[in-house]
Amino acid sequence: MKPFCPESWPEDPTPASEIDCQNCGLYKQGTRMVWGEGNPKAPIMVILDNPGAREDREGNAYVCGTRQTLQQAVHEVGLDKEQIYVTYILKRRPIKKYDKEKTRETCMHRHLDKQLKLQKPKLILCLGNVAVQSFFENTEVEVKGLRGSWHDVKGYQTTVAYHPLAVRRRPNLYKLLVEDLYLVKSKIHE
Ligand code: SF4
Repeated sequence: MKPFCPESWPEDPTPASEIDCQNCGLYKQGTRMVWGEGNPKAPIMVILDNPGAREDREGNAYVCGTRQTLQQAVHEVGLDKEQIYVTYILKRRPIKKYDKEKTRETCMHRHLDKQLKLQKPKLILCLGNVAVQSFFENTEVEVKGLRGSWHDVKGYQTTVAYHPLAVRRRPNLYKLLVEDLYLVKSKIHE
């Protein structure tokens, strides 16, 4: 196996029709939209709560901790990055307080539902309680109770795993993230 080296996966540009979206008010916080990254034709769609920064203050590209840990686990289970597309419930990174429930619902229905219809991923991997509760549209569900099996959400085969940032804070979760990616890998090869 090649040694692991984190890298910036190519950004999927925001469609021109959406770039000026002001639907939920989060645009006022000034962070730019990140539509997704990786291969838009990939069979696996990974959904996170919101994008991390892709550039530092000087504008240089860098790979944030979330991406590093996710890529490391992807590498460890032997998935190819071409098999993965990463996107978010929110397309902008919140940096101040906002109305979480309303904003997530607005952004998800305006953008993610369209992405799903267009890209038709074979499988979905939802990372972290925030993304899971938004995508499952149920504030009662948690990664802990859902991981390790498949769920039909909006007609898509969906599984869940801990958020890579939670894994960085609690390194004992890393082996669970790897297990969950093996589950995805086995399904993709069925
Ligand atoms: S977070 Fe989503 S819905 Fe809100 S302004 Fe940004 S793109 Fe539009």
